[in-house]
Amino acid sequence: MTNIKIYQGDQIGGCITVISTDNTKIVIDFGESLPGAEVVENIEFGWDMENVDAVFFTHYHGDHIGRFMEIPDDVKLYMGEVTWKVLKNLYTALKKDDIVEHLDNRPNVLFIKPNDAIEVGDIRVTPYSVDHSAFDAYMFLVETPDKNILHTGDYRDHGHRGHNIKNGKDMNVMLEVIRCYVRDFGRRKIDFLITEGTMMGDRKNDKRYSEKMMLKDAKEYFKNHKYVFLKISSTNADSLATFYHAARANGMGFYANKYVLKQLDVFKEAGSQYTDFYDFRDKWEIPFIPNDNTSKETRQKLNAKIKHMRKDGFVMVVSEYYDEIMEEFADLDPILIYSMWKGYIDKRIGKEAYNPELAEFCKRHNAIDMHTSGHAYPEMIEAVINAVDPADVKIIHTDVKEE
Ligand SMILES: [Zn+2]
Ligand SMILES: [Zn+2]
Repeated sequence: MTNIKIYQGDQIGGCITVISTDNTKIVIDFGESLPGAEVVENIEFGWDMENVDAVFFTHYHGDHIGRFMEIPDDVKLYMGEVTWKVLKNLYTALKKDDIVEHLDNRPNVLFIKPNDAIEVGDIRVTPYSVDHSAFDAYMFLVETPDKNILHTGDYRDHGHRGHNIKNGKDMNVMLEVIRCYVRDFGRRKIDFLITEGTMMGDRKNDKRYSEKMMLKDAKEYFKNHKYVFLKISSTNADSLATFYHAARANGMGFYANKYVLKQLDVFKEAGSQYTDFYDFRDKWEIPFIPNDNTSKETRQKLNAKIKHMRKDGFVMVVSEYYDEIMEEFADLDPILIYSMWKGYIDKRIGKEAYNPELAEFCKRHNAIDMHTSGHAYPEMIEAVINAVDPADVKIIHTDVKEE
């Protein structure tokens, strides 16, 4: 008999799903509760007692994978290869050497591939790519001897990978995958659907804004604003690509620090087999301001770079600690684009997730808001439920209480 247990499903982030049969047990996602969640304390999970065979991670966001260090080495960890690389870059930049070493040396880390089924005991798990603000995100079809379960992970359909043009017609990728692969054209019945519901609650009336709309707007906006600072998540591949293409279309350079450039290279390499959209080829490292110890040669190089930036314009990925380099361009009337969830800079929305330093930074620079959500709008969630047509459905990753 299949048993499904969901921990912290009624909060946005930190949801843990345990699926077990008589002889096999898997877990989907093991991440941190996000600040502002109902239970900020991470739940205790008795790894010693539970006898888990494998953990499957839907994607690299901390609320889904952030607690992987707690998982005993003999438990298999299944994740996308990009997820592993993105985490490694992230923890290297954060100077968390113990975590980087763990990622390098932990036994039983296995990479998943879209559409390639994995057998763990009597459970069969098939990952399918989904559109999300994380580049490498999956939903999982979990087949046990008596149940078919679909776990969506985080998803949306308004990113760059949400729609395709097929025979001249706009096709919703996720619904098509559900129809063709998950449902096998109606031949396979889904007993239990576990879907995310981030936008079902307080955020349900948020403006509908897609990556494609943002790309169009940014392209237009950059015609009159050639000096652009950008505050964005370093792992939001779609939005980074949006601003990159808007910059290049206007002859502006794209600048970021070494760490962000490394993440862009991961997306570039991984995306290259499907599309050239993530081909971040024309990008440069942000120059630093010369000081007394800077050699003459380096100083000349930096000055040439800054001169170039002043001439062509730029999009520069910044953080709240970049005032010095931003000051260098102050006379050019630059703008700051804030492309993250507004809760981080608005206390009423973000509650405990509010970041006063970041809010102050955005205020100081009169930031303008340009952002698309990583999560499906309620009408898309409804469409998914209809497409899956499950016997039973559970909405997780939501602040809406079960009714
Ligand atoms: Zn999430
Ligand atoms: Zn996510």
